Amino acid sequence: MSTVTRFAPSPTGRLHVGNIRTALHNWMLAQASGGRFMLRIDDTDAERSREDYVAAIREDLSWLGLDPDGEERQSARLSLYEEAFERLRETGRIYPAYETQQELEIKRKIQLGRGLPPIYDRAALSLTGDERKAKEADGVQPHWRFRLDHEEAIAWDDGVRGPQKFDPAQLSDPVIRRADGSWLYMLPSVIDDIAMGITDVLRGEDHVSNTAVQMQMFTAFGAEPPRFAHEALLVGREGKLSKRLGSLGCDAFRESDIEPAALVALLARLGTSQPVEPIASREALVETFDLGTFGRAPAKFDETELDRINAAIVHQLDYAEVASRLPEGMDEAAWHAIRPNLAKVSEAGDWWRIVTGPVEHPEFDEETRDFLAKAAQALIWSDNPWGDLTATLKDSTGRKGKALFLPLRQALTGMNHGPDMGELLPLIGEEAARNRLQRAAAG
Ligand code: GLU
Repeated sequence: MSTVTRFAPSPTGRLHVGNIRTALHNWMLAQASGGRFMLRIDDTDAERSREDYVAAIREDLSWLGLDPDGEERQSARLSLYEEAFERLRETGRIYPAYETQQELEIKRKIQLGRGLPPIYDRAALSLTGDERKAKEADGVQPHWRFRLDHEEAIAWDDGVRGPQKFDPAQLSDPVIRRADGSWLYMLPSVIDDIAMGITDVLRGEDHVSNTAVQMQMFTAFGAEPPRFAHEALLVGREGKLSKRLGSLGCDAFRESDIEPAALVALLARLGTSQPVEPIASREALVETFDLGTFGRAPAKFDETELDRINAAIVHQLDYAEVASRLPEGMDEAAWHAIRPNLAKVSEAGDWWRIVTGPVEHPEFDEETRDFLAKAAQALIWSDNPWGDLTATLKDSTGRKGKALFLPLRQALTGMNHGPDMGELLPLIGEEAARNRLQRAAAG
């Protein structure tokens, strides 16, 4: 059976870097075995879900290059949930409960006061038919709970955390549906995972206790639960869950000119025992993807690390990948000359201006001006004008090293450092180069 994974965001906000990481790992898990990666829009919360967020999620995934092999929306599947709900209700796995929030809160406080865990006491299960009718006649609409089977042990071998065990008697029967008929996340997710043939659920460790409950929901539907894996959460450099991380998304990365490939390379391995490296090839990342290397400690997201990876990725990008983002006229040779100096693609324009000019040279002393005048004369437009020019000048003036190269670079580019002059000079062109040398020589 081939692997089917899913990424199931709620469209109540933009994706943040933590969600992006989960999406990426699900995509990689599917890719690693030639399987499918599905997008599921968890929009049962009609009030908080927004269409512009749905569009933004699709756009972000596309920008990241994580195109789903299919998409489902929970709001379009309500009739499926209704049917499944009826089935479980008939078999007694779902029951109505009538407590108000306030009553539940009081029960919790009493339990905690007695040093007991705040587990729902199942009072609603012992209501008689008449008592229920009386409540409903009073206008109290029930909410619905899934009845955990206390005899059915809960255990799974987690892809990241290893063997997991839960005692169902230590868990509250989860509320799965509100009194107004709206759905909570828990049951629809299981119904969809079954219907969509999901083989692997990979999500954040904040879902571990949900998994415990959902294991029994799978069996209640007579389905084999998928494999589960829960990854450690993402934290900021300081080791805390920061507000900034919660709002850091693709729009911010795009604005600060981070390459999607850099984000992918970093997030692919962050929190694993594999080194984070500027690997631009997705195939290479997918080939080395291994849940067994995922650690239990929180993964630290560091923006300076992202910048470092970004620069290294930019140095590998082909012209075709960036051409549309480069200044008018900047061709492949120019890209290759300039690329090693960039931390971001958007900086290419600064270096390109050096090619197109005008440039401002610094003040030179008389001897150097004399040297630059010689350079203007010695310039020959060969296959290798820089190599020839510097060789000739070295012979004729006796200058070498910095004394030879720096004034030439300054006169030709106005800068003390920058792209390789051997590549840059042909881009500047013979006429402009001679003019710049002559102007610098004139002082
Ligand atoms: N919509 C849920 C969330 O965003 C999905 C969790 C899951 O992967 O099952 O937390």
